[in-house]
Amino acid sequence: MSYDPANIFAKILRGEIPAHKVFEDDTALVMMDIFPQSRGHCLVIPKAASRNLLDADPAALSAIMPLVQRVAKAARAATGADGVRVVQFNEAAAGQTVFHLHFHIIPVYEGVALGAHAGGQADNAELAGLAGEISAQL
Ligand code: 5GP
Repeated sequence: MSYDPANIFAKILRGEIPAHKVFEDDTALVMMDIFPQSRGHCLVIPKAASRNLLDADPAALSAIMPLVQRVAKAARAATGADGVRVVQFNEAAAGQTVFHLHFHIIPVYEGVALGAHAGGQADNAELAGLAGEISAQL
Protein backbone atom coordinates (compact mmCIF):
# COMPACT_ATOMS: atom_id res chain seq x y z
CA MET A 1 0.00 0.00 0.00
CA SER A 2 1.25 3.46 -0.83
CA TYR A 3 1.30 6.75 1.06
CA ASP A 4 -1.74 8.99 0.42
CA PRO A 5 -0.87 12.70 0.85
CA ALA A 6 -4.57 13.48 1.38
CA ASN A 7 -4.49 11.91 4.88
CA ILE A 8 -5.48 14.22 7.75
CA PHE A 9 -2.04 14.43 9.36
CA ALA A 10 -0.48 15.41 6.01
CA LYS A 11 -3.08 18.21 5.83
CA ILE A 12 -2.15 19.32 9.35
CA LEU A 13 1.57 19.21 8.46
CA ARG A 14 0.84 21.42 5.43
CA GLY A 15 -1.09 23.86 7.64
CA GLU A 16 -4.42 23.19 5.91
CA ILE A 17 -6.11 22.07 9.15
CA PRO A 18 -5.43 23.52 12.62
CA ALA A 19 -3.93 21.57 15.52
CA HIS A 20 -2.98 22.16 19.15
CA LYS A 21 0.77 22.13 18.57
CA VAL A 22 3.17 21.18 21.36
CA PHE A 23 6.38 21.34 19.30
CA GLU A 24 7.48 21.73 15.70
CA ASP A 25 10.81 21.75 13.87
CA ASP A 26 11.98 20.83 10.35
CA THR A 27 11.59 17.11 10.95
CA ALA A 28 8.63 16.62 13.31
CA LEU A 29 5.37 17.95 14.71
CA VAL A 30 3.96 17.12 18.15
CA MET A 31 0.28 17.86 18.73
CA MET A 32 -2.52 16.99 21.11
CA ASP A 33 -4.75 14.07 20.05
CA ILE A 34 -8.20 15.51 19.46
CA PHE A 35 -9.89 12.30 20.73
CA PRO A 36 -7.62 11.66 23.75
CA GLN A 37 -7.54 8.35 25.61
CA SER A 38 -6.29 10.20 28.70
CA ARG A 39 -5.45 13.72 29.85
CA GLY A 40 -2.32 14.78 27.98
CA HIS A 41 -2.55 12.25 25.10
CA CYS A 42 -0.41 13.64 22.30
CA LEU A 43 1.08 12.47 19.02
CA VAL A 44 4.66 12.64 17.73
CA ILE A 45 4.58 12.87 13.93
CA PRO A 46 7.72 12.70 11.76
CA LYS A 47 7.34 15.01 8.76
CA ALA A 48 8.89 12.49 6.35
CA ALA A 49 6.09 10.77 4.43
CA SER A 50 5.43 7.15 5.35
CA ARG A 51 2.22 5.25 6.09
CA ASN A 52 3.62 3.76 9.28
CA LEU A 53 6.62 1.96 10.78
CA LEU A 54 6.61 -0.73 8.09
CA ASP A 55 7.51 1.57 5.18
CA ALA A 56 9.45 4.20 7.15
CA ASP A 57 13.07 5.10 6.36
CA PRO A 58 15.21 3.63 9.20
CA ALA A 59 17.09 6.94 9.37
CA ALA A 60 13.81 8.80 10.01
CA LEU A 61 12.96 6.29 12.74
CA SER A 62 16.25 6.73 14.54
CA ALA A 63 15.92 10.49 14.26
CA ILE A 64 12.43 10.53 15.81
CA MET A 65 12.96 8.27 18.84
CA PRO A 66 14.82 10.84 20.97
CA LEU A 67 11.85 13.19 20.47
CA VAL A 68 9.42 10.41 21.44
CA GLN A 69 11.39 10.05 24.68
CA ARG A 70 11.48 13.82 25.31
CA VAL A 71 7.73 14.15 24.78
CA ALA A 72 6.98 11.13 26.99
CA LYS A 73 9.00 12.71 29.81
CA ALA A 74 7.48 16.16 29.24
CA ALA A 75 3.92 14.78 29.17
CA ARG A 76 4.54 12.93 32.43
CA ALA A 77 6.04 16.00 34.08
CA ALA A 78 3.26 18.30 32.85
CA THR A 79 0.38 16.04 33.86
CA GLY A 80 1.73 14.33 36.98
CA ALA A 81 0.83 10.97 35.39
CA ASP A 82 1.99 7.78 37.12
CA GLY A 83 3.19 6.25 33.86
CA VAL A 84 3.23 6.75 30.11
CA ARG A 85 2.19 4.41 27.33
CA VAL A 86 3.87 4.77 23.92
CA VAL A 87 1.71 3.17 21.21
CA GLN A 88 2.06 2.88 17.46
CA PHE A 89 -0.32 1.05 15.08
CA ASN A 90 0.51 -0.37 11.65
CA GLU A 91 -2.35 -0.81 9.14
CA ALA A 92 -6.07 -0.95 9.78
CA ALA A 93 -6.06 -4.54 11.04
CA ALA A 94 -3.79 -3.39 13.88
CA GLY A 95 -5.97 -0.38 14.74
CA GLN A 96 -4.36 2.33 12.59
CA THR A 97 -6.88 4.95 11.45
CA VAL A 98 -4.64 7.74 10.07
CA PHE A 99 -2.08 6.55 7.53
CA HIS A 100 0.86 8.84 8.26
CA LEU A 101 3.41 7.48 10.78
CA HIS A 102 2.83 8.69 14.35
CA PHE A 103 3.59 7.68 17.92
CA HIS A 104 0.95 8.01 20.63
CA ILE A 105 2.16 9.36 23.98
CA ILE A 106 -0.54 8.42 26.49
CA PRO A 107 -0.15 9.47 30.13
CA VAL A 108 -1.58 6.86 32.50
CA TYR A 109 -3.00 7.63 35.95
CA GLU A 110 -3.16 5.03 38.73
CA GLY A 111 -6.75 3.77 39.04
CA VAL A 112 -8.03 5.65 35.95
CA ALA A 113 -9.06 3.52 32.97
CA LEU A 114 -7.97 4.71 29.53
CA GLY A 115 -10.68 5.95 27.17
CA ALA A 116 -11.44 4.23 23.87
CA HIS A 117 -8.99 4.61 20.96
CA ALA A 118 -10.19 7.57 18.81
CA GLY A 119 -13.23 7.96 21.13
CA GLY A 120 -14.81 11.24 22.36
CA GLN A 121 -13.54 14.66 21.28
CA ALA A 122 -11.86 16.79 23.96
CA ASP A 123 -12.60 20.38 24.90
CA ASN A 124 -10.56 22.78 22.72
CA ALA A 125 -9.59 25.08 25.58
CA GLU A 126 -8.38 22.13 27.66
CA LEU A 127 -6.29 20.81 24.74
CA ALA A 128 -4.78 24.25 24.18
CA GLY A 129 -3.86 24.46 27.87
CA LEU A 130 -2.29 21.00 27.90
CA ALA A 131 -0.32 21.75 24.71
CA GLY A 132 1.21 24.76 26.44
CA GLU A 133 1.97 22.85 29.65
CA ILE A 134 3.66 19.93 27.85
CA SER A 135 5.55 22.33 25.59
CA ALA A 136 6.88 24.17 28.64
CA GLN A 137 8.40 20.89 29.93
CA LEU A 138 10.24 20.05 26.69
P1 5GP B 1 -4.15 5.76 14.78
O1 5GP B 1 -5.41 5.00 15.00
O2 5GP B 1 -3.95 6.01 13.31
O3 5GP B 1 -2.96 5.19 15.46
O4 5GP B 1 -4.35 7.13 15.51
C1 5GP B 1 -4.87 8.26 14.93
C2 5GP B 1 -5.14 9.22 16.06
O5 5GP B 1 -5.39 10.48 15.50
C3 5GP B 1 -6.35 8.85 16.92
O6 5GP B 1 -5.94 8.71 18.26
C4 5GP B 1 -7.31 10.01 16.72
O7 5GP B 1 -7.94 10.36 17.92
C5 5GP B 1 -6.40 11.12 16.22
N1 5GP B 1 -7.00 12.04 15.29
C6 5GP B 1 -7.84 11.76 14.27
N2 5GP B 1 -8.16 12.88 13.59
C7 5GP B 1 -7.50 13.90 14.19
C8 5GP B 1 -7.42 15.30 13.94
O8 5GP B 1 -8.02 15.85 13.03
N3 5GP B 1 -6.63 16.03 14.77
C9 5GP B 1 -5.92 15.46 15.80
N4 5GP B 1 -5.18 16.27 16.55
N5 5GP B 1 -5.97 14.14 16.07
C10 5GP B 1 -6.76 13.36 15.27
